[in-house]
Amino acid sequence: MESITLQDKNFRTYIPYTEIDKAISRIALQLNRDLKEEDRPVFLSILNGSFMFTADLMKKIDLNCEITFVKLASYSGTRSTGTVKEVLGLCDDITGRTVVVLEDIVDSGSTIANLLNDLRKRNPKQIKICTLLFKPAAYKADIPIDYACIEIPNDFVVGYGLDYNNLGRQYKDLYVID
Ligand code: 5GP
Ligand code: MG
Repeated sequence: MESITLQDKNFRTYIPYTEIDKAISRIALQLNRDLKEEDRPVFLSILNGSFMFTADLMKKIDLNCEITFVKLASYSGTRSTGTVKEVLGLCDDITGRTVVVLEDIVDSGSTIANLLNDLRKRNPKQIKICTLLFKPAAYKADIPIDYACIEIPNDFVVGYGLDYNNLGRQYKDLYVID
């Protein structure tokens, strides 16, 4: 498939699945190597966008680990920082454990910054950030992105879990706005 239309916008193929798969394999090797001494690390997948990435990545992970899924609720905080994101649905006890956050895309970094604020209150041993896509030119946070499968310029992409107005998540390849 070369191009798709979602509502009012056209998108063209950007990164084919074969390339995504290679990038994920490379990161999986690093995770397997870096975390092999950890006691039951928790992979924390952020829904909805990360579902496809999580499924493909985890098939390549051979650690004794757990996988769990959370959603982020956005609300306008009273603080001047604006939107605050709270983790919904994290029942697992992460105290003293290594947590690997699985994100679909890191853009400005505000989502990750808010998420870490919440997770740190639960006293994990350490938190690693692993994202399928990373936009370095847009990134404003000071949190290191430990594992980024693919770096992209400041373009709007859909497919492979990512949406445009909730559409387009099911496509195997990544598309960019035309
Ligand atoms: P941040 O908080 O890092 O600025 O943005 C992260 C969130 O913005 C992502 O989880 C995603 O929901 C959305 N986002 C940022 N860039 C893109 C993009 O290129 N395509 C899509 N579909 N969503 C994006
Ligand atoms: Mg996301």
